[in-house]
Amino acid sequence: MNAKLNHADWKALAGEVRFETRAFIGNRFVDAAAGETFATINPATGETLARIASCDAADAEVAVRHARDAYERGDWSRLAPGRRKQLMLRLAELMEQHKNELALLDTLDMGKPVTSSLGDMAGAIGCIRYNAESIDKVYGEVAPTGEEALGLVLREPLGVVASIVPWNFPLMMTAWKIGPALAAGNSVILKPSEKSPLSALRLAQLVQEAGFPEGVFQVLPGFGHTAGKALALSMDVDCLSFTGSTGVGKQLMQYAGQSNLKRVYLECGGKSPNIVFADCKDLDAVASNAAAAIFHNQGEVCIAGSRLLVENSIREEFVERVLAHAETMQPGDPLNPDSFMGAIVDETQYKRILDYIRQGVEEGAHLRTGGEAVSPIEGGLFVAPTVFDGVTDQMTIGREEIFGPVLAVFGFDTEEEALRLANDSDYGLAAGLWSQDIDRIMRVSRRLQSGQVFVNNWAGGDMTVPFGGVKQSGNGRDKSHHSLEEYSELKTVWMALSPASR
Ligand code: NAD
Repeated sequence: MNAKLNHADWKALAGEVRFETRAFIGNRFVDAAAGETFATINPATGETLARIASCDAADAEVAVRHARDAYERGDWSRLAPGRRKQLMLRLAELMEQHKNELALLDTLDMGKPVTSSLGDMAGAIGCIRYNAESIDKVYGEVAPTGEEALGLVLREPLGVVASIVPWNFPLMMTAWKIGPALAAGNSVILKPSEKSPLSALRLAQLVQEAGFPEGVFQVLPGFGHTAGKALALSMDVDCLSFTGSTGVGKQLMQYAGQSNLKRVYLECGGKSPNIVFADCKDLDAVASNAAAAIFHNQGEVCIAGSRLLVENSIREEFVERVLAHAETMQPGDPLNPDSFMGAIVDETQYKRILDYIRQGVEEGAHLRTGGEAVSPIEGGLFVAPTVFDGVTDQMTIGREEIFGPVLAVFGFDTEEEALRLANDSDYGLAAGLWSQDIDRIMRVSRRLQSGQVFVNNWAGGDMTVPFGGVKQSGNGRDKSHHSLEEYSELKTVWMALSPASR
């Protein structure tokens, strides 16, 4: 099943694959209580893949009850961390065995190229393994107090965690949330995006096969304003961990305030600056990276390098090189392992992208390539890699997150100007800089208002480093030991050792 597949193999596999369409609640696959369903559509072809259980508040209530019961029962929350680790490693093993199928589900559901989906699977499996391996290495503390007392600082799970995730990296975002939350001993309810529920439901089957206790992991497919909102308003959910847009992130904070002050960890949008200084090494390699930074995953990436800031002395030559690389990144059939870009997730997003392109032209940016829909497959939603030069920070395409294959190029003359442009954003998720001057690299890295800074690369990193944003890009951190901290609570136990001497 895991041999390297070619285009024909993937097409054949797509013809055979079966979809789980029901919610996973209390260790059983069930229809939504109201019997409602929604369609999940392959955006590369327009074909309806399946109708999925559309859960609402009634289903959320049942799932929360199961999650709470599991937590109180303690057969996961109070299980020795080393034993939780064994089950999570078993899950990772099952994901590994089925990684082609899981990758295929994400590709069919949201249109990303299958090669990219396979990369996501490696990330997702690695994340489950990392958290499994970490959890029995996290120690509490003994406070440095006097001999008359023993102060212990313990780490405990939070309780019931609701994870609400987007569609652009369906299974990888899921793993980034559920990996640390489960490892820390919480009960987790996953609400996948209504645009990409298939891999989450397949994952539920694997969780069941791995033998997790009932109610520890559940999947509630449905819409944000129904299933998602019900979880967010629940008085018995202790934590919301969210990845998605800034607008919805703001709503979730309000829901927490209206209900039980549950913890809210947000990973939201971005409009990330990628700064190219004239002293960078190998202009063509940098241009290739700058193109990939925006066109990877059709630009539907929270950390897309969507604002390219180029020192004016090299700008013309550099943009020419970016255009040449963009030409090689045209969208194609997502099932073809050679396609660099695939389809746009759905019609709403597709129209939104084309609308931003229209606004870019109207506001006076210089369209250098793309700017239009293309159709490598009839009935599919594809947009050509698009580059605008001469963008300013007053233009809509220079400020707003487009979430599509649209690059906005700005020019600058000085380091100070580059920093001003880079930081002039409501977002602060990622930033990149390309230079050979170590003094400049350190100076600029420290002053960039961003959760992560990529130096002479774009989107580098592995499980050992945290991922998250500042400003309106959110407050949470996925990956690394820091994500485990988010899903556990500190408890102080103060033991008086010699009460008689008081
Ligand atoms: P979205 O905010 O529309 O939806 C995300 C999730 O929230 C979905 O599951 C949706 O059903 C749910 N939701 C929507 N309204 C809700 C409500 N009122 N209550 C509860 N849940 C609700 O985002 P999207 O379109 O799925 O994803 C794209 C966005 O995600 C972009 O802004 C992108 O930058 C961001 N993103 C951020 C990161 C990161 O790590 N910072 C990673 C990936 C994507």
